Amino acid sequence: MSAVLPTPESALSVLKTVWGYDAFRGVQADIVQTVTDGGNALVLMPTGGGKSLCYQVPSLLRPGVGIVVSPLIALMKDQVDTLRALGVRAAFLNSTLSPEGAREVEAALLSGDLDLLYVAPERLLLPRTLDLLERAPVALFAVDEAHCVSQWGHDFRPEYQGLSMLPERFGHIPRMALTATADDRTRADILRVLGLQGAPQFISSFDRPNIQYRVANKEGPKTQLLDFIRSEHAGDAGIVYCLSRKSVEETAQWLCAQGVDAVAYHAGLSPRERNQAQERFLNEEGLVVVATVAFGMGIDKPNVRFVAHLDLPKSMEGYYQETGRAGRDGLPGTAWMVYGLADVVNVRRMLAGSDAPEEVKRAEAGKLDALLTYCETAACRREVLLAYFGESFHGPCGNCDTCLNPPQVRDMTREAQMALSAAIRTGNRYGAAHLTDVLLGRATEKVVGMGHHTLPTFGVGAAHDEKVWRGVLRQLVSLGYLAAGEYHGLSATGKARTLLKGETALVLREDTLQPKTNKRERTR
Ligand code: ADP
Ligand code: ZN
Repeated sequence: MSAVLPTPESALSVLKTVWGYDAFRGVQADIVQTVTDGGNALVLMPTGGGKSLCYQVPSLLRPGVGIVVSPLIALMKDQVDTLRALGVRAAFLNSTLSPEGAREVEAALLSGDLDLLYVAPERLLLPRTLDLLERAPVALFAVDEAHCVSQWGHDFRPEYQGLSMLPERFGHIPRMALTATADDRTRADILRVLGLQGAPQFISSFDRPNIQYRVANKEGPKTQLLDFIRSEHAGDAGIVYCLSRKSVEETAQWLCAQGVDAVAYHAGLSPRERNQAQERFLNEEGLVVVATVAFGMGIDKPNVRFVAHLDLPKSMEGYYQETGRAGRDGLPGTAWMVYGLADVVNVRRMLAGSDAPEEVKRAEAGKLDALLTYCETAACRREVLLAYFGESFHGPCGNCDTCLNPPQVRDMTREAQMALSAAIRTGNRYGAAHLTDVLLGRATEKVVGMGHHTLPTFGVGAAHDEKVWRGVLRQLVSLGYLAAGEYHGLSATGKARTLLKGETALVLREDTLQPKTNKRERTR
């Protein structure tokens, strides 16, 4: 008994009459069907992929109100205004509402006068809200930014773990989890907390073909950035990410002095200043925002033409999400980054110095390693990026720097075979450091203790130094020949067989394989 719609409407006609769109994109149609029919779902879709419609359309089709859990309080009002302009009966409940405003929304909820209600998780979990929901007609629960449940993610929010009460208390109401970011462990956490084991998983491609990926050595970052903007993106809207507030301020000032229209954004500014920067960015044509990662979550500006990183992001997820803000309109965009050794040291120090539990730190280090692999690759960057998200894409893509200007490489197939056989012969469970010791023929206590000094692989790689072996191992992981398991143990994958048999070759960048410079050479 639909209170909203007098006659059953098809998903497509709702899409057409409410939004004016002609067709669903990709898996949207399947997701809408599943949830409208009362099923649960996990939705993994890149930023800009169109997650909102996946819960908005079923909320209109099913009787009752769709409850959308979102951590982005600052955006709820905009989302609700947009929906209202389309004629959808939408509202939000969060700490920005006055008590009277909240009471009005609660009354509308109880009387069935809402199609969609956006709620912050801490608000949802209040006994008062839960009581209301038990008395109100609820069409579905959509948990947006669902990766926030997981402390493996870069965006852990403790209140999201409280959402485990949804399957417990509202098990009969369809639940969907939506995110643009989820590695295997994060995905497992989402399924566990929201009780979605066994629910269909809808996983879209993370490829953003219109984004050109580029990574360069950091030489003089500000000048490099200015050259890049002047030569390729003069007058374009863009985002420049820096690690510290200080470098945000300095870079913004410097760009302005050079005649580039730029504004700073970081958490140290007042809410009013931040709002102003955000408003200007959304409304002006060619503004460059120089920002810390605080900027951009949920910002929907379709014509951002470039995202530049002057400092290394902390993880592959972060990099993907930040660069994903370029080219949401489908037109060409550039993801440009400069990085140097000092950045690596910096980010590592920050990770090591955090007071997170050891396990979390180790997971974070793994995510950083993945990003470094991406930075150093000689292969198609898109291939490495998508491999991280579990997608097998085969380059060249023709739209990244390594495809456009292939770097100097050396055939390292034999070395790769040695490294793989070291992993296999030691039982597929040791990390890069131990495998390197075996390859170099170092009789460390651990090597001797495990009897690995008697293996035929022991010392076969002595012709190279440690850096080369680290590079080889890192590359093997990035290309999926070795998988990093628990405690960073490396194991040969099914794909490794083709390399071992010599059916595929492995080439590595020359510039990452230089032998260590000794002290005297460096001081010269
Ligand atoms: P996400 O939440 O996954 O980042 P959104 O739901 O905000 O993405 O959608 C991104 C953009 O794509 C929005 O402007 C939305 O209106 C548009 N969009 C989504 N699905 C469709 C569709 N089927 N047809 C046309 N435009 C769509
Ligand atoms: Zn490529």
